Amino acid sequence: MIDHPFFKEALPIIQALEESGHEAYFVGGAVRDLLLHRPIHDIDIATSALPNEVKTIFMHTIDVGIEHGTILVLRDGCGFEVTTFRTESEYSDFRRPDEVKFVRSLHDDLKRRDFTMNAIAMTAEGKLIDPFNGQPDLTKGIIRTVGDASERFSEDALRMMRAARFMSQLSFELDPKTCKALVDHAPLLSHIAVERKLNEMDKLLSAPDKAAGLSIIAQTGLYAFLPGLAGQKKTIERIAALQLQPLSVNQMWILIVYEAAAGDITNFLRGWRMSSRRVKRIEKGVRTLNRVLTEGWTDLLLYEMQLEAAVDCAEAMAVLDGRPSFSKDIISRWHALPIKSRSDLNATGSDLMEWTGKPRGAWIKECLELVEKAIMNREINNTKEQIKEFLLSCSRL
Ligand code: ATP
Ligand code: MG
Repeated sequence: MIDHPFFKEALPIIQALEESGHEAYFVGGAVRDLLLHRPIHDIDIATSALPNEVKTIFMHTIDVGIEHGTILVLRDGCGFEVTTFRTESEYSDFRRPDEVKFVRSLHDDLKRRDFTMNAIAMTAEGKLIDPFNGQPDLTKGIIRTVGDASERFSEDALRMMRAARFMSQLSFELDPKTCKALVDHAPLLSHIAVERKLNEMDKLLSAPDKAAGLSIIAQTGLYAFLPGLAGQKKTIERIAALQLQPLSVNQMWILIVYEAAAGDITNFLRGWRMSSRRVKRIEKGVRTLNRVLTEGWTDLLLYEMQLEAAVDCAEAMAVLDGRPSFSKDIISRWHALPIKSRSDLNATGSDLMEWTGKPRGAWIKECLELVEKAIMNREINNTKEQIKEFLLSCSRL
């Protein structure tokens, strides 16, 4: 019996499929993570039932990827992906199968999966079906392709990035043949959509053993087929040698951009097809880092860059310098700032127009910037009188 809440919740789905005369198993990452005693985030179910059969068995379903055989079954507010056993044939473009064929055999379905540790199925009773010896590999901590590594990477080159990200997540080793095939087939990564590469890279950079994933990317040559990283082997190795563990994924990107982008931050990030919101956040972190290196941690800089970018930058800087995190000091200094944003000023654009009788214009922003600077440098307090006096004294009114 499986003693895990997620699996227990999914059990009635397997049972319903079985009662309708089909086979159904837990598969993929959830089984792997259960065996490794790692946290489980989603449950995948594989079944001999065809997608339309799955839809007739359950009341609430969503077609999330029916062309690949995946139906989302909703139960008590939770969604479970139920995927029909399938094989994939003919990968003429190194990335997606020309044809997905639904099959009735679990063995064939497990055979098309990437690594032995991901090709273990488990019955409702908790019995493991492991035709490719995933369990011994899990015990030894080895990432090994199901079948011939060269063939498997030629079918879908993304699997090479997946290998690197599993190294980061699990601190596993690469089986030597799998590693050799990675070196041989690295150029095939150029056929893979950037979005899929980014997805794996983000997982790699969020995981505990980031250095392991980055090192394998450098060592096998995968880096040459990742946006902005061609020719950056040394840089990646230098980053991998740092104590990266405490950094968040965005802070990791700040560090990578700082080390690898050679000034062209936006283009580097756009090359990875990141959302403009992410590009802005990472870019701001890097700009903050560059400013701190020339200006130091002034209150004005903290005020202008704001807390999020300052903390991201502080975390990345601590790692770059090999010293303990000093974000707490930065946060305290932020809380001690006399104002946090322009809306905290005790004088507004309307006040300035009233004092001068001048119409609205760019001059207002310029004046307010001067005032903010003076407050941050503790030259004046944030009172209406002192602001007016200050602007008069510098002939702005
Ligand atoms: P995660 O913890 O990130 O969810 P996962 O192993 O569950 O890891 P998914 O991307 O959710 O990874 O895929 C579920 C399963 O589908 C995998 O465990 C593997 O069996 C199979 N799989 C996923 N991507 C591929 C691929 N590119 N080639 C072959 N099999 C794959
Ligand atoms: Mg998964």
